[in-house]
Amino acid sequence: MSNEEYDVVIIGAGISGLSSARYILSKDPHLNIVILEASDRVGGRTLTVPLKTENGTDDWDLGAHWIGRSQTHIMELLEELGIETHQQYVTGKKYLQVGKDNSVRSYTSDIPTLSLLGLLDLDRIMKKIDSLAKEIDQQNPTNHRRGHELDSITMETYLNQNMWMSESKELMEVAIRGVIGVELSQVSILYFLTYVSAAGGLKNLVESTPYTAQEYTLKGGCHQISIKMAKELGESRIKYNEPVVSISQNKNIATVKCESGNIYQCKKVILAIPPNQIAKLKIEPRLPVVKRELYKHMPMANYAKVLLTYKKVYWRESGCSGEVVTNGGPSSNTKCKYGPLCLVFDDTSANGNPALVAFVAGQQLVEWRQLEANERKESVLKCLSQFFGDDVYKYIDYAEKDWEEEPYVGGAPVCCVAPGAMKYYASGLREPDGCIHLAGTESASIWTGYMSGAVQAGTRAAIQVLLDLRPQTVSAQDLKNNNKPFINPSK
Ligand SMILES: Cc1cc2nc3c(=O)[nH]c(=O)nc-3n(C[C@H](O)[C@H](O)[C@H](O)COP(=O)(O)OP(=O)(O)OC[C@H]3O[C@@H](n4cnc5c(N)ncnc54)[C@H](O)[C@@H]3O)c2cc1C
Repeated sequence: MSNEEYDVVIIGAGISGLSSARYILSKDPHLNIVILEASDRVGGRTLTVPLKTENGTDDWDLGAHWIGRSQTHIMELLEELGIETHQQYVTGKKYLQVGKDNSVRSYTSDIPTLSLLGLLDLDRIMKKIDSLAKEIDQQNPTNHRRGHELDSITMETYLNQNMWMSESKELMEVAIRGVIGVELSQVSILYFLTYVSAAGGLKNLVESTPYTAQEYTLKGGCHQISIKMAKELGESRIKYNEPVVSISQNKNIATVKCESGNIYQCKKVILAIPPNQIAKLKIEPRLPVVKRELYKHMPMANYAKVLLTYKKVYWRESGCSGEVVTNGGPSSNTKCKYGPLCLVFDDTSANGNPALVAFVAGQQLVEWRQLEANERKESVLKCLSQFFGDDVYKYIDYAEKDWEEEPYVGGAPVCCVAPGAMKYYASGLREPDGCIHLAGTESASIWTGYMSGAVQAGTRAAIQVLLDLRPQTVSAQDLKNNNKPFINPSK
């Protein structure tokens, strides 16, 4: 058991915690920082794994997947770290499967194949959501003129009240499941508007067109972002397999205790872990009630990823882009009500090794995770075969990851706020409590839930810490940069 003293203890070595450390040290390399990480690796919700290919192996992402040019904070970091992007393949036929009959429709533009009324309905609701999202104040979403009312209405009720066509409503349902891993009944429209506002618009969240969230993958995968930052910081600053269990603080000093019995004393703590994990810590004196209430109402969503590698990009040969938006279609397993998938994309690597990536989310994942491994794989293949034929079965390698199994993450891609709790949102997530500062993508005000948000929130927490410990190092420009507006020339 050790007892060590530091200026700053950062809890969590995901992109956010590492960004905080990097920023603080860029301003004052003499500050003494340690990063405590519960698992045996950096990267948190990013994970790149090798899969078999025709001629060897290549790397694919089982965690965070895409970035886009409107995500300025992560784009800048990638440039600094020398990580290159790879354009998401979107050329050709896309498939849409919604409706009671689960029929599969194809389309080639950015506009899905719905009836004319369905398209009008979809266009209307998207415009309505965007216009309301523009009115959201990230620093206090319930300040909206209809704030409390919108926080008491679930997305489900809101869409029922504001959409006429079941097919377009189902498409919205699938899109929200695919983007944040929740069912419409689990979040309020106010939370969703705040999420949309942080992304600069609904299209930025759901499309794979230029500047949107699904624009590029990273050559070599997303995990290297953290691996490179850790190397730059010096591996000796990171303590692995060191889960924090409690924090106590008095006016000027915090004491951080780990499961190992090790104790770290410091002037400042940055909590760069998701709210569902903060809720597990024993913090003395107790955090303000606003924060406690919020974390109790911020469960992690349900999100899993499946990767399949192939010998040939055979779907492209028949004019398919590889992109599918689906309600899952009919279930092929009697234990499940639904087919497993919601989104599929071509995930051929920058080295040209063919692959598909598929997402299982929300209620479908709750069912799917109860199946045996062979049943899970079989149901994925069956679902994919509806769009890409029996050749899907000729895969070279298969990998899946259900993020609920990660003990210090507990789900993915983001902790969402349950209806009624948005009144605690910004102060609960971003305001420090004494020595304790909050980072993590959930606390971002720009691109919340994304890697870019993790960088923005990590930098914001670092600036807060520096303003107390080294105020002379922080300029007005630093604060401005942290709140940079969106760059999206297509708008
Ligand atoms: C399947 C999937 C797909 C995604 N797709 C995308 C995408 O396409 N684009 C995108 O931008 N984002 C995507 N995301 C989200 C993205 O991964 C996250 O926004 C981002 O990685 C969060 O970083 P973070 O540092 O805030 O938190 P995390 O990555 O969760 O890091 C927190 C760290 O804290 C550690 N920790 C937790 N509790 C403790 C404790 N008590 N003591 C010590 N350490 C602790 C954890 O082990 C973890 O390493 C996806 C995520 C998943 C899982």
